Amino acid sequence: MCAQRVAIAGSTGSIGTQTLDVVRTEPGEYEIVALGVGSSIEALIAQANEFRPKLVVVADPTKRAAVAVALPFAEVVGDLAALVDDADVVVNGVVGFAGLAVTVATLRAGKRLALANKESLIAAGPVVQPLRSIAGAELVPVDSEHCAVHQCLRSSARPAAELSRIVLTASGGPFRGRTSAELANVGVEQALNHPTWKMGPKITIDSSTLMNKGLEVIEAHELFGTPYDQIDVVVHPQSVIHSMVEFTDGATIAQLSMPDMRLAIGYALAYPNRIGTPFGRIDWTTLARLDFEAPDVATFRCLALAYAAGRVGGSAPAWLSAANEEAVDAFLAGRIRWSQIAEICDAVLQQHHETTDITNMTVEDIVQADATARRIAHEELAR
Ligand code: MG
Repeated sequence: MCAQRVAIAGSTGSIGTQTLDVVRTEPGEYEIVALGVGSSIEALIAQANEFRPKLVVVADPTKRAAVAVALPFAEVVGDLAALVDDADVVVNGVVGFAGLAVTVATLRAGKRLALANKESLIAAGPVVQPLRSIAGAELVPVDSEHCAVHQCLRSSARPAAELSRIVLTASGGPFRGRTSAELANVGVEQALNHPTWKMGPKITIDSSTLMNKGLEVIEAHELFGTPYDQIDVVVHPQSVIHSMVEFTDGATIAQLSMPDMRLAIGYALAYPNRIGTPFGRIDWTTLARLDFEAPDVATFRCLALAYAAGRVGGSAPAWLSAANEEAVDAFLAGRIRWSQIAEICDAVLQQHHETTDITNMTVEDIVQADATARRIAHEELAR
């Protein structure tokens, strides 16, 4: 059997480096044909020297020439969408809305998209959905919760008819159990201190506000076509149950493993098969307990904001995701307090209006919606 040809967008980030870990542990199964980054060229050059891709993408034009000199065996270009050309599967590990071009290019080319960049699906659902029916196009989630749901749904021969609800689990993040008053003055360091998952800064802040879970509710709706009334969130601090599905007969199927993104990445690469390396294997002699509680929606307002934006649909999720990216950037830069992330998102969503026909949205419409929401977010941030 030929090795599966893999391209990675965002190869030096958390998802990208862990994808290369999976490839390393499965010799002969995968060939890295392309690696793409924004501007982290030192790490990229080291990766390329190890995996020898034919194509390297560097989005930052000021860094491209240096990479071309360092990697004489690779073609060096600037457009992340070029990663798709020689790949069987494209891992989209780009952070934020910038991942949209990779999502669209992969599905348009009729390839498998291993999607870790949830923002592109959330913001551009009306544009991405039609692309999924292109021959060969396939969207396999890398987000651990959606990977779990994807696995659980395979237990039903008729999931569309038999699914009763999806239950997304949330670790609760570093601030679980705290009151709004206790959270008034939390700093960046504390918000970045996630109890169970080691991830990049943007998603870690999103976990601390529960915006990550809110975005995942929209992501589940887009991925599986499940109505919002049938998507629930439960806090499960151990992050061992990665999500569950309940069927019409009352049976609940859950996927369990220790928190390790390499399982979800390997699942998306190998589907419908499974890789041979047991990332996240459970030691049942030390796993003492699994706890559950309802999310504190009054303190963590972002979760309700996401449900609201999802239910509005159209460009509302794009507005929410864009406002959140701007607010998280401002928080990481020390310009706003943690509690203001939700306030900015709320203020932007309240000004949401639809400028195009949502049944015929284009990529340009989504880019425009994203830009409008960011402009309004900047106005709110300047207050
Ligand atoms: Mg997740």
